[in-house]
This record gives sequence, C-alpha cells and structure tokens, in this order.
Amino acid sequence: MKTSESVDDKDILHREFGSILKSYNLKVTQPRLRVLQMVSEKNTAISQPELEKILGSEIDRVTLYRILSSFEDKGILHKVFDLNGTATYAICSTKCSAHHHHDQHVHFICSVCNSVFCLDEITVPKINLPPNFSLHGIAINAVGICDSCQNKQP
Ligand SMILES: [Zn+2]
Ligand SMILES: [Zn+2]
Ligand SMILES: [Zn+2]
Repeated sequence: MKTSESVDDKDILHREFGSILKSYNLKVTQPRLRVLQMVSEKNTAISQPELEKILGSEIDRVTLYRILSSFEDKGILHKVFDLNGTATYAICSTKCSAHHHHDQHVHFICSVCNSVFCLDEITVPKINLPPNFSLHGIAINAVGICDSCQNKQP
C-alpha cells in the first residue's frame, strides 16, 4: 500500500494549483485541481474527450464539462478548435480575467496529429471594425506539421 505517497501527491497538487483556483474565487476541489494539472502539464491544448480518457475514472462527464466551462468563463483556460472542429483547451496568459480573454495569439495545428499549440509570441493583428460591430474574438490558425510528426517522416 502506498497511501502515504498519494497523500503527498495531493499536497503538491493543492500547493501548486490551489492558489490559482482561490485567486479566481473558485472553491478548491479535487476534480478542479486535477483538470488544472492535466491542462498545465501538456504543451498542447487538450480536448474534453482526451481529458475524459485520462480522468474518466475520477470525474464524470457532466462535472468535467462544468469545470471546463467555468474555467473558460473565469479566464483560466481558452478554447481553440482543432482541425476536426473539436474544442480543445489551453491555459490562458496571466492577463486574462473573467469574461475577458486577452490571449489573442496564433495557434499552430498539426495536420498529421491534430495537436494544437499556443504560439504566445505571435499576436494577432488589430482589426478595424465597421461602425456598430463588436468583436468577441479573433481566431488565427497556422496549419502545418509539428516537430514530433516531422521527425517521424520517412
Ligand atoms: Zn484567456
Ligand atoms: Zn503532429
Ligand atoms: Zn492559445
């Protein structure tokens, strides 16, 4: 039995991500901590089906869905659609706040593995809108082949 170890893991989880949840006025719960951990650990955006595969035994679908949409509302995660139109989620830049996403950056989508990468250093151009138009978001995707797929090419 490795009960003591799993308690340690939970402590680390709390220390690392608990303060993030608190700073967004969200109650610290184990499912929320786990989702935050999974999204932070990946260098690509992660979809709900992928999260379900990893966390399915711990978190039911409805809870997972609610967590993702509340994280998006709060400005913790932003949503990016991959090449199949599936919503994927990535951690927001620190400038994001509730209902106000500032991470308007270009996303790179690999046409082989469909992975979504945030290209934080490339910002989207300023858009001049016609009068009485309001802007809710800009999505610019660069499509190509990621480094790991590039290496697998014959
Ligand atoms: Zn954001
Ligand atoms: Zn790839
Ligand atoms: Zn992004």
